[in-house]
Amino acid sequence: MRCLMCGKDTLSDRSLYRLFFLDDQLCMDCRSQWHRQRIEFRMDQIPVYSSYVYNEAFASCLLQYKECGDEALKDVFLCLDIDYIRRKFHGYTILLMPSSEEKMQKRGFSHLSLMCECLHMPILNPFAKKDGSEQKSLHVRDRQRMIHDIILKDDVPLPRKILLFDDVITTGSTLKGALSNMDASRHSVRIYTAAAHEKWLQKPMRRHFSRHQ
Ligand SMILES: [Zn+2]
Repeated sequence: MRCLMCGKDTLSDRSLYRLFFLDDQLCMDCRSQWHRQRIEFRMDQIPVYSSYVYNEAFASCLLQYKECGDEALKDVFLCLDIDYIRRKFHGYTILLMPSSEEKMQKRGFSHLSLMCECLHMPILNPFAKKDGSEQKSLHVRDRQRMIHDIILKDDVPLPRKILLFDDVITTGSTLKGALSNMDASRHSVRIYTAAAHEKWLQKPMRRHFSRHQ
């Protein structure tokens, strides 16, 4: 198998790494440039969990996947944490953060939806991102509900246990926009993002675990 980022034959990896991370489609060298860490903090009282500190290597892989449309990379973001995520969020339904329609059309696939497939958990796509034209066509009532450019589509009943999902949390504005559409007291809400910007690591209640835990 060839590494999806550098093209190196992954059989040349040291055997122990391949033994533990058999399904990793990145080679050990590329993977070691990602800053893997179990991260936990709160944003507006909602618990947030991440698996990587957002760094250059993560960013360039995400760019390759999202902006260059390299669909083959879909599993590399979560593949080392599938069991952890499934256990931690057992019974939760994943709610994807919205992409702008224009970007999605250009890309030709829903990058978050593909990223989550490997988790085999229920997935909903209940939010929409407004852009100028979408906003104009919205009903007045929907426009009033719109905060942070994110709206909840009509007629999408939300489950009790909700896992808001995004690739990376930087400012948190997208996730806050999604949260503003729901009554968090009526749901059990958690947030998972594959990576978190390091500024979130300064927040209280952070918990870091060792790399291979
Ligand atoms: Zn590589």
